[in-house]
Amino acid sequence: MKQVLIIEDEKDIIELLEFNLRKNGFEVKYAQSGEDGLRLARTSPPDIILLDLMLPGINGLDICKLLKTDQKTGHIPVIMLTAKDEEVDVVTGLEVGADDYITKPFSPKVLIARLRALLRRNTEKGETVKKVLKAGPITIDPGKHSVEIDNQQIQLTATEFQLLLVLAKRPGWVFNRTQLVDDIRGEDHIITDRAIDVQIANLRKKLGDAGEFIQTVRGAGYRFRENE
Ligand code: CA
Repeated sequence: MKQVLIIEDEKDIIELLEFNLRKNGFEVKYAQSGEDGLRLARTSPPDIILLDLMLPGINGLDICKLLKTDQKTGHIPVIMLTAKDEEVDVVTGLEVGADDYITKPFSPKVLIARLRALLRRNTEKGETVKKVLKAGPITIDPGKHSVEIDNQQIQLTATEFQLLLVLAKRPGWVFNRTQLVDDIRGEDHIITDRAIDVQIANLRKKLGDAGEFIQTVRGAGYRFRENE
């Protein structure tokens, strides 16, 4: 049974989420502050985290950053829960490593679908593509979900990892943003081009000098550099 950790201070929303998640076969844990959420995530890592943005104490963005930079929790997909007027924070959230976001008020049906898509993506892709990919200094091990640059492991979020994998599997192949969104999130997902650009920028930054393997193709999209 997949475990969901809810980090949210509003009791009504926790109850709504808990009810719908249990009904759909998920195991649910929750924390009403970021600090408690972090502690829970570290002591018993869940399969996925639903993280509210507006929390008392440490806010959701900082919690996300802490989760994503921690060895124990960095691989866990995070869906941010945001209010309608927090549009700016969505981009910031993606910058600090959140994998997806849902705007409140949300339909439980949509939320469950997104959650399932993210979980499916995380396991499916990791399991079906086991072959280790190498390009220049980059080594991608889909089975272990790890990326090394010159034998040094780097920490990527689930989304950054998928983006890198999708591109690196077909060097020289140009992917437009819509294809990338489809590949990493499933076809029914609506996300802005800007969000893909942000994820690519993060990925390049983390790859350091090897970031040049991800090339921008003007007016078209992105591609992974072909070996000369
Ligand atoms: Ca809140």
